[in-house]
Amino acid sequence: MSHEDWLAEYRARMMGTVTDPLALLVKGEGCSVWDAEGTRYLDFLAGIAVNALGHAHPALVAAVNDQIATLAHVSNYFATPPQISLAETLLRITGAGSDGRVFFCNSGAEAMEAAFKLARRNSGEGSRQKILAVHRSFHGRTMGALSLTGQPALQEPFLPMVPGVEHIDSTLEALEAAIGPDVAALVLEPIKGEAGVVELPEGFLARARELTREHGALLILDEIQTGIGRTGEWFGFQHFGIVPDAVAIAKGLAGGVPIGALVTFGEASSLLQFGQHGSTFGGNPLAAAAGNAVLGEIEGSGLVANARKRGAELMSFLRKLNHPLIAEVRGRGLLIGIGLSQAIAKPLSIAALSRGLIINAPNDSSIRLAPPLIIGDAEIAEFRELFTATLKDMT
Ligand SMILES: *Cc1c(COP(=O)(O)O)cnc(C)c1O
Repeated sequence: MSHEDWLAEYRARMMGTVTDPLALLVKGEGCSVWDAEGTRYLDFLAGIAVNALGHAHPALVAAVNDQIATLAHVSNYFATPPQISLAETLLRITGAGSDGRVFFCNSGAEAMEAAFKLARRNSGEGSRQKILAVHRSFHGRTMGALSLTGQPALQEPFLPMVPGVEHIDSTLEALEAAIGPDVAALVLEPIKGEAGVVELPEGFLARARELTREHGALLILDEIQTGIGRTGEWFGFQHFGIVPDAVAIAKGLAGGVPIGALVTFGEASSLLQFGQHGSTFGGNPLAAAAGNAVLGEIEGSGLVANARKRGAELMSFLRKLNHPLIAEVRGRGLLIGIGLSQAIAKPLSIAALSRGLIINAPNDSSIRLAPPLIIGDAEIAEFRELFTATLKDMT
């Protein structure tokens, strides 16, 4: 099928909520994907930080095959061993430990919906009605998650938003001014992925922890993009020596099988009580088995350390290019943002694609790299060659 043909069929059938797809993909293996015409691409986006183990990883394939042939779904009227085991691992790697608890759902937005309800439960008998979030944040597209998202353009078609959310600048001054006894929760991404991989200011997270604790507010972290080893620690907050009250997880957790989770710490674990939340698919044995396989492989193969090492290699390469189009290289581990000196991120990502490299332009002046955590010397060498050639195409 030609590009025009499948695109016409797609447009005739799909709701036009996203930009036109860039290719019709039919197969993947490791860090490569192939389109319907047999063209191979080096995948440095990994389904937006989802395919942690790359494509068709044998450990994930075996776990999903075995589980779907054994027990795929039972509802939350029943427990299954994969679900209990995944919860146990999440409590360990987040550091929430035996005081922590896990709520399973099916996506990032749903993890943020659970976080929103958690924040509402910290109402101090009605005295804490406000939830703080920051400008340019992204927390998902459902109404609660969208209300937390600090992007008026995404909210505007769906007003009114869920009440009670106030957006502030990610500065210490703004935080000090906004926090008070009326705040139920502060919601933050440790690194703003959708904004183009933008870090919080130095010391912000540590001070946010102090201030939320002082005022009885929850510190809720959206680690949907930064979690599961992506930044070179299991979770982004672990770079900053703090402990949050809750962490939302999704994307990389099951390597492409839909799943989400909210992990609570300490006292926050008893806020959501019997009958107050639920999800039919949440934590079903199929998704949980996929999650166990992904976490097992990340641990067994040292992929958190690999993310740190390969990320440092990539960032060093990008900085040393000293290219006039590259104004800034941001990020940690394998979540990397390239700040461009001109607003050409979209055409640059298209030029890369036509050379066989998938990278992403979250906005007009940023390129985002989020390759599988399994990348090694070969993938880095190929990326260097393709990216250098792409920069030449643009100048
Ligand atoms: C992707 C993402 C979400 C939303 O996740 P979905 O699975 O698309 O609902 C929320 N927050 C962050 C930081 C994300 O990167």
